[in-house]
Amino acid sequence: MNWFPEIKKNFGFGCMRLPMLENNQVDLKQCEKMIDLFLAEGFNYVDTAHGYIDGKSELAIREFLTKRYPRETYLLTDKLTDSYFKSQEDIRPFFESQLAACGVEYFDFYLLHAQNAVNYQKFRKCRAYETCFELKREGKIRHVGLSFHDKAKVLDQILTDYPQIEVIQIQYNYADYEDTTVESKKVYEVCVKHKKPVIVMEPVKGGTLVNLPEQAQKIFNELQKNASVKLSNASYAIRFAADPENMVMVLSGMSSLEQMRDNLSYMKEYQHLTKEETEAIKRVRRVFLHQNLIPCTSCHYCVEENHCPANILIPDMFSTLNAKRQFDSWNQDFYYQTVLTARGNGAASDCIKCGKCEKVCPQHLPIRNLLVDVAKTFERKKD
Ligand code: SF4
Ligand code: SF4
Repeated sequence: MNWFPEIKKNFGFGCMRLPMLENNQVDLKQCEKMIDLFLAEGFNYVDTAHGYIDGKSELAIREFLTKRYPRETYLLTDKLTDSYFKSQEDIRPFFESQLAACGVEYFDFYLLHAQNAVNYQKFRKCRAYETCFELKREGKIRHVGLSFHDKAKVLDQILTDYPQIEVIQIQYNYADYEDTTVESKKVYEVCVKHKKPVIVMEPVKGGTLVNLPEQAQKIFNELQKNASVKLSNASYAIRFAADPENMVMVLSGMSSLEQMRDNLSYMKEYQHLTKEETEAIKRVRRVFLHQNLIPCTSCHYCVEENHCPANILIPDMFSTLNAKRQFDSWNQDFYYQTVLTARGNGAASDCIKCGKCEKVCPQHLPIRNLLVDVAKTFERKKD
């Protein structure tokens, strides 16, 4: 089904992990090269949110995209995020500030951001859904959707309450497919039940499905041993997410021109997964299930806006512990001591257990308990 004819191809540029310079500013030169290639190859969907890179993503988009290209050459998605409004009166000024930050007159898609059972109540109370539908009637939004981070039954309720919602953005990747916390498969099935098109976020699980453990890498290497063109690990993850019928878009948060080139190479002329590829992905998923990895997607919500009073680099700690569990080298211990806990950043054992991070974690991770594991692994007492 052709849900949105204005979408040219089923692959979008997620702007939450744009390339950065050493001075912590977005690398606009590299972004210009990335967007030039993206548009030249026939893609046109770009996604952002106000909180991405502490507000720098929207401003960067104005510089590298909207100032440089006519409005009809791209589709731009932005989002209404919980932390930027307290009442219905706050929503319109915030929305207008997003249009100004991005340098546009309207958004093609506007999503009620990161909906879950708790913040859905606030969005309802503040009439956030109704306000977005009004903005649509005024022509400032072309399509209203939501992005979702909770159990399937919560989504079922929201879509029953608001059947006008036009598109759902969900987490969907082969590692989380049957995960009982993320429920990728079940959430997708609710979208199908309500006849909604779907946008996928986190197809490579924040990079976890790019740098694979050795045992998993062997499976893909074996699959490609006689292939003339070698496919990247990301290609399997992204095509897995793009394959189901209701998927209209897969987003990738690309951080370099090289990643952009790789992704476009297999999404330009889209090929469905073969039986052999599907089988290999199932085997790789089984490797992940046996590794006891923390399913953190590095979204950084828990560390944005001074969420953590102990200044702990939570996602970096989890990826370092995952690397330790996969590769068990001294590199991770060295990194923990010299980078993660240096320059005023807290150690895992500095956690004061306030729980602020867990309230915003879309993966519902027991961050406080996981930091105890991090401390046990990296803060062993010296003899
Ligand atoms: S519970 Fe610990 S890690 Fe989480 S915000 Fe509080 S101090 Fe930081
Ligand atoms: S711990 Fe949760 S909120 Fe923090 S980066 Fe990981 S997934 Fe995101």
